[in-house]
Amino acid sequence: MKVIGSMTAMQRQSDEWIRSGESVGLVPTMGALHEGHLTLIRRARKECKRVVVSIYVNPTQFGPKEDLAKYPRPRRQDLAMCRAAGVDFVFAPQNLYFPDHSSYVEETIVSQGRDGTSRPGHFRGVATVVLKLFNLTRPTRAYFGQKDAQQVDVIIRMVRDLNVPVKLIIVPTVRDPDGVAMSSRNRYLSVEERATAVKFAQLLQKATKQKSKPASWLSRELKRVTSLRLDYVEVAGDRLCAAVFVGKTRLIDNERLVS
Ligand code: AMP
Repeated sequence: MKVIGSMTAMQRQSDEWIRSGESVGLVPTMGALHEGHLTLIRRARKECKRVVVSIYVNPTQFGPKEDLAKYPRPRRQDLAMCRAAGVDFVFAPQNLYFPDHSSYVEETIVSQGRDGTSRPGHFRGVATVVLKLFNLTRPTRAYFGQKDAQQVDVIIRMVRDLNVPVKLIIVPTVRDPDGVAMSSRNRYLSVEERATAVKFAQLLQKATKQKSKPASWLSRELKRVTSLRLDYVEVAGDRLCAAVFVGKTRLIDNERLVS
């Protein structure tokens, strides 16, 4: 497994595989890898000749009061997990922005509402870094998790609108046995907070089975849980999406509505 640390080295490598015609699978991550990420990586391993995992905590998708500085960065452990999963290349740059970077990608419809309201500028940062990663690694296929439902919506729309030559593969949410969607941010949770996260997952699951107004039902039930603070509940397409704060940790999750 090769670790690549600069944009120029990454471009040199992707030039090579474009010349050779090999299929390349990209799994973009912010590190602190868990079984959710590994599921994406395994799928890429099965479907592509070369697998690239990017590990980059992208500053442009964090708000000024968010957890950029304290976001977990267990680099050695991440690399060991990638190696064990048969990854060919880890792209782990220190920085992806020129000091005078001034170009951004902005999706203007599906990035509205949900996290788009709670985290202004977040999806502009996501779309920009994902397009940069596509241009640097030039993947045949790129793998994203359904856990970040609105991120998936934004990237699908960006790829379509800007004619980006990549096939997107969306992988179902991977959950711990207690039902909580796996997330790098779950590391922040205390034992008591973890119990609240379980409650959040259970109520979301139960809400999808309500015959009428699942969003109102979930909103009402979540407001009753005193150990969490509701951020939003929204229906988007056929999915019920929600975000809550448990202590200082923000958790998002979504489930398909049972019709
Ligand atoms: P992150 O490192 O949190 O930016 O996530 C990197 C990729 O892994 C994104 O496409 C996420 O949607 C995906 N991912 C994160 N957690 C999960 C999960 N529990 N199940 C499936 N995919 C996930």
